[in-house]
Amino acid sequence: MIPSLDWLLEQADRKLKKEMDPDVIAITRAVITELAAEGLPVGVAQAFRTKQEQDALYAIGRTRPGKIVTYAKGGASNHNFGVAVDVFVYADGGKRAEFLAPPDPRLKQIVAAMKRYHMQWGGDWGSFPDYPHFQLYDAVNGQPKPLLGPRYPGRPLFAGAERMDRTLIRLIQKRLRLPLTGQFDWKLTQFIEQFQRQHRLAADGVVGPVTWRHLFGFQR
Ligand SMILES: [Zn+2]
Repeated sequence: MIPSLDWLLEQADRKLKKEMDPDVIAITRAVITELAAEGLPVGVAQAFRTKQEQDALYAIGRTRPGKIVTYAKGGASNHNFGVAVDVFVYADGGKRAEFLAPPDPRLKQIVAAMKRYHMQWGGDWGSFPDYPHFQLYDAVNGQPKPLLGPRYPGRPLFAGAERMDRTLIRLIQKRLRLPLTGQFDWKLTQFIEQFQRQHRLAADGVVGPVTWRHLFGFQR
C-alpha cells in the first residue's frame, strides 16, 4: 500500500515549519505531489534546524558518541537558513523511512523533479556527497536567492484567445528574446511551437501550464 497524497503532505507539513523559506516549502510540496502521482512516496526527514540543533548534530561522532552525521557547525548549514530539505522514500506503506543512494533509479526520479524547480542537490558535491539533501541556494556562502518565475495565469494563452493580458504576452516575448509587441500573433505562435519542440512538448503553439513552467521555471 502506497500512502495517500493527503497523508504524505500532512507528514511533510510537520517538518516544513514557518522558519522555512516559503518557496522551498512550495517546491517540496510540489515535488511530493508530482512523485506521489508517479507512485513514489517521498517524505521530509529534516528541514529547518536552529544553530543549537546544528551544533548538537555536529557533536555526534566528535565530542559525543556515534558516527559523524554532518560536516557543518551551527550557522554553517543551509538547514539553518531554512532553504534546505533532506528527503527519503516511505517503505512498508509509510512505516519505514528509506534513504536512497546511487544508483537507485528512485533517487534519480527525485533529483530530476527537484532540479526542475531549481533545487541544488547534495549528491553533486564531489568531496562529501549528501544524497538526501536539496537546497534552493547556498545561503551559507552568500549566494543570492534565485529569481522565481511569474505565476501561471490560470488559463492558456494562444493566438485568438479572449481577454489576454498583454503584460503576460510581453513576458513570453521577453523570455524568447522577441520584440515586445504584446500581440499573440502567428509569429509568436511559431516561436512557441519551436520552443515546445526543443523541450519535447506537444508543439501546439498554446502556452498552457506545462509550457509556462518550461518557459519560466518554478512559479511563486
Ligand atoms: Zn541536508
